Amino acid sequence: MEIINRRKRMSSVARKIRREENRTIGFVPTMGALHEGHLSLIHEARAMCDVVIVSVFVNPAQFGANEDFKTYPRDLTRDCDLLAEYNVDYVFAPGVEEIYPPGFATYVTVEELSEQLEGASRPGHFRGVTTVVAILLNVMRPDFAFFGQKDAQQAVLIKRMVRDLAFDVEIVVLPIVREESGLAMSSRNQYLNEGQRRAATVLHRALSAASAEYREGERSPARLLQGVRDAIEKEPLARIDYVSVNDAETLEKLDKLDDRPALISLAVFIGKTRLIDNIVLGKTKKQDAAGARA
Ligand code: AMP
Repeated sequence: MEIINRRKRMSSVARKIRREENRTIGFVPTMGALHEGHLSLIHEARAMCDVVIVSVFVNPAQFGANEDFKTYPRDLTRDCDLLAEYNVDYVFAPGVEEIYPPGFATYVTVEELSEQLEGASRPGHFRGVTTVVAILLNVMRPDFAFFGQKDAQQAVLIKRMVRDLAFDVEIVVLPIVREESGLAMSSRNQYLNEGQRRAATVLHRALSAASAEYREGERSPARLLQGVRDAIEKEPLARIDYVSVNDAETLEKLDKLDDRPALISLAVFIGKTRLIDNIVLGKTKKQDAAGARA
């Protein structure tokens, strides 16, 4: 496994793989502090592609001024040990100036979609995400890029950007990996103490209860949302940022549910830690099977 820090080196290695060796590239972008959620993406990339490249880059452009860019967990040595175990071929771990050289002035924004849900709570967040993903896709030119349903809105935006700007890559979105308690794996779970970690399990419990109500025939987003809110508000350590029901593909807000898959997504503070989670209602059979495996 080679660790690459320079953008030019990464581009030329990837070009050689594509052109001279004619091998497929699977790319998994991460911010490091790797956990089983990331590893599930890498596992799938390994199964689907000849060469697997993982980037580890804590992207300053996607953090707000009062967010946790400085304290975000970083441990490249541990990450690289894990990546080597997973037979990753290349780790791209650039410094900030490799991605944003002096004079950097070009950003990618997916209009409207980037302003709701997470975007409303974290202005500018998705501009940072789509910009860095666009840069990384251009450096790597992968055949496939792998993202987690954990960041459901991010996955929708990336797919839209790829379509709108004609990136020649296939986006693969994989199910949320959870701890046994139901807590969605996240690098930010490291911020939680034991009591908070227990409190955080309310997110998935509340979403699962809504999903059960949906399966039993409930089709009113307002009532489903109220159920989720009530469950979370019972947990004293939790403070809701938002809970929302949207079309899972377009993110359009829904007043009533029909056969189209719907996304219930939420952001909740547990102490100072902001956690996100979601569940898809009316999933396809394929998604259900994948979810059960994860
Ligand atoms: P991050 O390092 O948090 O930027 O995440 C990198 C990628 O891993 C993103 O595509 C995330 O959606 C994905 N990811 C993070 N947590 C999980 C999880 N629990 N299950 C599945 N994918 C995840």
